Amino acid sequence: MDHRMSEQELLACFDDALKSGQIYAVYQPKINHATGRMIGAEALMRWSHPVFGMQYPSDFIPVLEENDLIYRADLGIFEAVCRFLRKCLDEGGAPVPISVNMSRYDIYGKEYVDEIEKLRINYDVPVKYLHIEVTETSAIGGMELLLDVLDRLHDKGYVVEMDDFGSGYSSLNVLKDLAVDVIKLDMRFLSGNIGGRGGTIISSVVHMAKWLGTPVIAEGVETLEQADYMKSIGCRYVQGYLYSKPLNEEDFRRKMEQMDHEPMRGPMDLISTLNAGKFWDPSSMETLIFNNFVGGAAIFTYTDGKLEVLRINKKYIKEICTNVTEQEIIDSDPWSGFDAENRRIYEDTLKRAIESGDEETCEVWRISHSKTCGEDRICTRSFIRMIGKTEDQYLFYAMIQNITAEKQQYDQLYDSERRFRFASEQINVYAWEYDISSKEMRPCFRCMRDLHLPPLLENYPEPAIEMGIFPPDYADMYRDWHHQLEQGVEHLEAIIPLTPDRVPFHVRYTLETDEAGRPLKAYGSAALVVDKE
Ligand code: C2E
Ligand code: CA
Ligand code: CA
Repeated sequence: MDHRMSEQELLACFDDALKSGQIYAVYQPKINHATGRMIGAEALMRWSHPVFGMQYPSDFIPVLEENDLIYRADLGIFEAVCRFLRKCLDEGGAPVPISVNMSRYDIYGKEYVDEIEKLRINYDVPVKYLHIEVTETSAIGGMELLLDVLDRLHDKGYVVEMDDFGSGYSSLNVLKDLAVDVIKLDMRFLSGNIGGRGGTIISSVVHMAKWLGTPVIAEGVETLEQADYMKSIGCRYVQGYLYSKPLNEEDFRRKMEQMDHEPMRGPMDLISTLNAGKFWDPSSMETLIFNNFVGGAAIFTYTDGKLEVLRINKKYIKEICTNVTEQEIIDSDPWSGFDAENRRIYEDTLKRAIESGDEETCEVWRISHSKTCGEDRICTRSFIRMIGKTEDQYLFYAMIQNITAEKQQYDQLYDSERRFRFASEQINVYAWEYDISSKEMRPCFRCMRDLHLPPLLENYPEPAIEMGIFPPDYADMYRDWHHQLEQGVEHLEAIIPLTPDRVPFHVRYTLETDEAGRPLKAYGSAALVVDKE
């Protein structure tokens, strides 16, 4: 039966336990939930007492911390991990990076970084196999001290993971000041309803982490639902009972050899010189500019056809004229307002922007939803620029203009012009002007198009007769009409079979005269005779 050791017992046994290997490491895998591959593992301290049985960190670590013993215990675990990695490497294995926990007490008046470096070099383990987990509570004793340790860890090449993010003390602001490489979000601190406040915290942390280009590991993941939810918001890395409890060295070694591995995806490559982290600081110049000096603007990622909005400014909301909040826009699927055609246009523009590295423009229609105004169909013009990328994810900055009114005006104009043309097509009327004194004829656009007439015909009607538009058996009659017009006959009309195909048209002339009644011009028209049955 395990017996929970008292403080006195722990302190009395500590030295011996450390020396004799009662204090040792177990390993919990970190998995990419999207691929099922292992990306690393965390070393967790265990104390197995020969008489009192298994002791758990939550009980004995606070005692070690209060008594200034945790430093030695942590170095002991670090050494155990180095020994394990050395053994794997010696035996030709390909280990995954192992994360070791650093207590906040390890940085006060200690040479933590120097000490672990000595151990690492002693065991000749490449630094890429070692990560250090720090907690944000380490900042309690002074931010400078922690920043200094982080700098030195980075100098030596260690990947630093921020442990227990979201446990309360942390804020997004801490993150932007601490240059950590990985964020660990503990699901247990955010348990309960994923759709509620916990979910909002999780999704904003994951969004911000993406923007910072920092991978996120969800830890304490016990259910498939939790893992799927995390994946749905773009966090694929999980650690927890769902995949594996912490395993003893032997079992872990076996698991590591059975599974495929993959590296954790590195931070996003930012193309411009802008400081991404500063976008999260409400008082930074970047935020000031983003909110005040540009028009409607959004920052979003594009991954395998999926769009995700990371940030939008107030003018963006104004442009699309919905009264929703930034958070509501961030939480919704940006494609939901697009139909297939407009989505294609927009995606093509993104692809162009990726290729050119330049600003690309497009105009698309989308439905904008709002609780109070219902649905609205709006047209936006976007100026899009890619500002960062990883192997499969792109970061974009887009400026947006609402051009719905402009578009509608144009459409109305276009529409009336189109209706007019459509109507005249339907009634099949050809028209022309005949100048009595010069015998010049000016055909309408349709005549030119359908009958291949030039804009001006001299000595009319002879060219039309020659071309066969007026067939020979009607030629004299038609010539005679023009004499009648010269003499002031005001109205002429007849059904004439026109063109070599002899299509029946209703042909008319109306004469225009000057004040004195002298003939000036005649207006001719030919309308297709439609059989009325
Ligand atoms: P931690 O660093 O957040 O470690 C994760 C803890 O969550 C571990 O508890 C692990 O066993 C547990 N855990 C993992 N998956 C699940 C899950 O799906 N559900 C639940 N409910 N729990 C899960 P453990 O090993 O008892 O460690 C507790 C804490 O003790 C650690 O929290 C860490 O803060 C500290 N600790 C452990 N090992 C060390 C160490 O070597 N050095 C220092 N300084 N602290 C350590
Ligand atoms: Ca940890
Ligand atoms: Ca943790």
